[in-house]
Amino acid sequence: MRTLTLLILLPASILFAADKPAAAPAKVAPKYQEGSCCDKATKRGEKCNHPCCVKAAKAAKVCDHCNEPVKK
Ligand SMILES: [Zn+2]
Ligand SMILES: [Zn+2]
Repeated sequence: MRTLTLLILLPASILFAADKPAAAPAKVAPKYQEGSCCDKATKRGEKCNHPCCVKAAKAAKVCDHCNEPVKK
């Protein structure tokens, strides 16, 4: 019976391991909040011209006034 339990638990633990994100995130694109001014501008092929967003972009960041971090 012990072997049977192991056989059932093993695939489950592999699934859990695969579910975890890799150490280095593959995405490098800035995380704009869906529907935000920056998101809309990017989809138009432009850069958001809000002063707060321009300032954030210069610091290689995403404006967190207009793009609230996604809460987990
Ligand atoms: Zn913006
Ligand atoms: Zn902004």
